[in-house]
Amino acid sequence: MSSSENGIVIVGGGLAAARTAEQLRKSEYTGPVTIVSDEVHLPYDRPPLSKDVLHADLDDVTLKPAEFYTDNNITLRLGSAAQTLDITAKTVTLADGSVLGYDELVIATGLVPKRISSFPDLEGIRVLRNLDEALALRTHAASARKAVIIGAGFIGCEVAASLRKLGVDVVLVEPQPAPLASVLGEQVGSLVTRLHRAEGVDVRAGVGVTEVRGEGGHVSTVVLSDGSELPADLVVVGIGSRPATEWLDGSGVAVDNGVVCDEVGRTSAPHVWALGDVASWRDATGHQARVEHWSNVAEQARAVVPSILGKEAPELVVVPYFWSDQYDVKIQCLGEPEANDVVHIVEDDGRKFLAYYERDGVVVGVVGGGMPGKVMKTRAKIASAAPIADVLG
Ligand SMILES: Cc1cc2nc3c(=O)[nH]c(=O)nc-3n(C[C@H](O)[C@H](O)[C@H](O)COP(=O)(O)OP(=O)(O)OC[C@H]3O[C@@H](n4cnc5c(N)ncnc54)[C@H](O)[C@@H]3O)c2cc1C
Repeated sequence: MSSSENGIVIVGGGLAAARTAEQLRKSEYTGPVTIVSDEVHLPYDRPPLSKDVLHADLDDVTLKPAEFYTDNNITLRLGSAAQTLDITAKTVTLADGSVLGYDELVIATGLVPKRISSFPDLEGIRVLRNLDEALALRTHAASARKAVIIGAGFIGCEVAASLRKLGVDVVLVEPQPAPLASVLGEQVGSLVTRLHRAEGVDVRAGVGVTEVRGEGGHVSTVVLSDGSELPADLVVVGIGSRPATEWLDGSGVAVDNGVVCDEVGRTSAPHVWALGDVASWRDATGHQARVEHWSNVAEQARAVVPSILGKEAPELVVVPYFWSDQYDVKIQCLGEPEANDVVHIVEDDGRKFLAYYERDGVVVGVVGGGMPGKVMKTRAKIASAAPIADVLG
């Protein structure tokens, strides 16, 4: 791509935006680069929001200092959301009314947390996706005594661990048979249940929430589908997120559970690209997949930037990876385990564990709790689709 007046506009102010801008400059692209974010903060890292920001008073989660953007001539348009996209005029209109032209556009708008619309509007019901929400949750947690967390996915589990560290009583409610069961299966989910129970969390699995009640405008009680009534002065809703694509409605960019992209981040619209949590990339098997994990973002930035610049993208031979910190246990997942794989728990000392996931006789993933070395050692076997017998020894 030859640089022109408008250059490359990146919409979104998170990890994917920062990595894309950084990668563009590393690739010696010299044209204008603009990051548009609806947040007022410099692009920051989200994993600490449910961990050290909550329980260890960490405040600075900035990915790069302000000088990085000035030194690299990257323009930041903070605090103004992109509202509409015109792919014919090649313009983005922002909430403040300004219209930005682009030569190439990168969509990196991430996710919006789901809320439960039937809940009354009460103080004390929170979600967690951004820094402001994390800081508000931390302030609230300082005076909270009884928290109910709805949804035991990764964020719900991490918030439970952080609140326990702050001495808050926690009930973790999950309609699946165990925390994380929909991602890692019931066997590993039961090890996660055990971990939380050992730390004093009241894990209620296999039940849903039917009602939330309040007193004086503040949440007071959560009612479960088995009839139990849980007193609560803090409720955290952690039931997942949806791609932030509303601003693309009517633009002509195809969206289907995220912005639909090919294997290098090219969307259905010319000169428009997408990456990160909002993007559904075509994978090696031809399927569309949206990944909500940190390390995936850097991999995608390394593929999308050469493609934008008209260079050959490196082939992505990546074994997917993510981690989650819960108490002193780092849960790590390598590969693509699924809930209905055959699970082999090969180590379990009552707290830490190691599990291999088998599909059609092949090792497809490994999940470890507090077993970093052993998880990472499995990478080559997963990459080469080794027979499960190779790892079971
Ligand atoms: C609390 C939390 C903990 C996490 N912990 C882990 C972990 O332990 N391990 C792991 O692997 N992954 C973790 N993740 C996931 C990881 O942080 C994400 O994969 C990563 O942040 C994705 O980056 P992104 O830039 O695609 O999206 P985001 O980081 O969500 O950034 C999107 C940005 O775009 C902005 N935006 C949205 N709409 C617009 C618009 N219309 N105009 C302008 N700006 C807009 C948003 O406000 C946001 O700033 C965690 C995520 C969260 C929320």
